[in-house]
Amino acid sequence: MRSKIPHQKVVIIAIDGPAGAGKSTIARLVAQNIGFLYIDTGAMYRALTLLVIKEKIDIANEEQVIALAKKSKIQLENNDDGTIKVFLNGENVSQDIRKPEIAKFVSLVAKISRVRSQMVQLQREMGQKTSCVLDGRDIGTVVFPNADFKFFLEADFQKRVNRRYKELIQSGIKITPEAVAGDLKNRDTIDSTRECAPLKKADDAIAIDTTDLTIEQVVEKVLSQIH
Ligand code: C5P
Repeated sequence: MRSKIPHQKVVIIAIDGPAGAGKSTIARLVAQNIGFLYIDTGAMYRALTLLVIKEKIDIANEEQVIALAKKSKIQLENNDDGTIKVFLNGENVSQDIRKPEIAKFVSLVAKISRVRSQMVQLQREMGQKTSCVLDGRDIGTVVFPNADFKFFLEADFQKRVNRRYKELIQSGIKITPEAVAGDLKNRDTIDSTRECAPLKKADDAIAIDTTDLTIEQVVEKVLSQIH
């Protein structure tokens, strides 16, 4: 049963944290529970990365990546079950953006500051229209510093690797735990050390260590703060 929060104004819930901490699952379930829109901001950076790879653009060539970002159209849609569909220039790329090749390069695309300003603008436009739950790395610090609720999810590295490995295997992607560990380490490093909007807990965010918690327990913790 959905319990809608009574509100007159648009409400923003920010959920940040590193890959594998449970952000997207929690954000999706919380959004579904309270009838808010779910915005997966990582999917937007992933969609652009897919295009960069398809167009064979050298990621080190920032000008070209920025030009591509400017002419690309990235749209998110919520399915009835709370999952999202991602469209890149009208094409449904929801499956393709989850591939390991995208994960390998996405942090390099996401560290380009002019790419970020464009994505942030899109995210703010979406968030201004309707109440939503956004998950990402910089939602509480940069995109919506005045968000109504901010959470920062963390978990032990090995737990994050196990979760992401299971998720990928379940979706039919062939990968080893070692490769998943390598990907998370690489992205953790780039995402948290980049100059522009690094992965960081906002001072006023509520930190939740999800290592030993079930999905239901984390959702409950988030909902209890909101209610
Ligand atoms: O959330 P997800 O793991 O799908 O994000 C993929 C990548 O997109 C992250 O590793 C990060 O480089 C980038 N990202 C970001 N800022 C966000 C969301 C994602 O830089 N708000």
